[in-house]
Amino acid sequence: MPKVLDGVAIAAAIQQEVAGEVRALTAKGIQPGLAAVMVGNMAASLIYVRNKVQTCASLGIYSDLITRPAAVTTAELLELVASLNARDEIDGILIQLPLPAHVDTKTVLDAVYPGKDVDGLHPLNAGCLMAGRPALAPCTPAGIIEILKRSGIPIRGQHAVVVGRSDIVGKPAAMLLLHQNATVTICHSKTQNLGEITREADILVAAIGRPGYITAKMIKPGATVIDVGMNRITDPTEFARFFAGDAKREAAFAKRGSILIGDVHPQAFEQAGAYTPVPGGVGPLTIAMLMANTVRAAKMRREKNS
Ligand code: NDP
Repeated sequence: MPKVLDGVAIAAAIQQEVAGEVRALTAKGIQPGLAAVMVGNMAASLIYVRNKVQTCASLGIYSDLITRPAAVTTAELLELVASLNARDEIDGILIQLPLPAHVDTKTVLDAVYPGKDVDGLHPLNAGCLMAGRPALAPCTPAGIIEILKRSGIPIRGQHAVVVGRSDIVGKPAAMLLLHQNATVTICHSKTQNLGEITREADILVAAIGRPGYITAKMIKPGATVIDVGMNRITDPTEFARFFAGDAKREAAFAKRGSILIGDVHPQAFEQAGAYTPVPGGVGPLTIAMLMANTVRAAKMRREKNS
């Protein structure tokens, strides 16, 4: 039986550590603070942002949830970011993505002061990550490394194959694995013979955004499979293709009309030595690492200034 890598438990352990750091900082008069900027009212984004704000509260991190209507302009968001950059009690600035199509997302993200860029998306942080210098690294990839390390899965010398090359997951995950001395291959939508390459992976990271795309024959027996994908399916035929006979999920689907599935086919995990489930794998780490980054940003900026 493959080992299930329990992201909920690992995230809880990290959050406990972060809470300890928050207490120590607060005793020195520094309460870490996070500003979350939410544009429009996309239901999924609202859930994510509220979850982040609630986690801040439970760890003693100050948080400010700032909402703007979907019609907000790039100039207005730039003004908002400038004001957050200037607020001393704000250590981390999170712009919940996606922003509406009319907003120049890159310009808004680039305006965030790099020392407060807790999502690790500023080019300066991306460059520092690439160069192996201290940086605020994107939360999901940082969480992947925590899962591997805390589960005792060796990274050094292993062949890690990352499927996906986005700036927020694939590329930084590949870079962090490289810094841990893995031999790294990055695949994407133009990769030929994907299955042949993924079958070589000791550690396979799937960050594609396609439900159940990685099948059993694409996985080397005994490999560690990190499933980053979070895809919501609502089509009963598609549901049946993945989950027919799974009584628990059938009941959940009948109740909610949708279900989350990763980028790895549910039956493919049998091939793995260890894997992260969806939900309950990588997802919880993303929030935990956001909290860790906020505390780190507070330490870097305010301990230095105090
Ligand atoms: P993007 O859409 O930005 O990137 C997807 C990547 O997958 C691209 O590099 C794309 O290649 C590649 N890809 C697409 N189709 C194929 C294919 N058929 N074969 C090989 N590669 C392919 O997505 P993100 O990186 O933002 O997210 C990936 C997944 O992770 C999503 O399901 C997302 O919901 C989830 N996610 C989960 C998080 C969590 O906390 N668990 C956090 C962030 C994301 P190309 O570059 O050539 O187009």
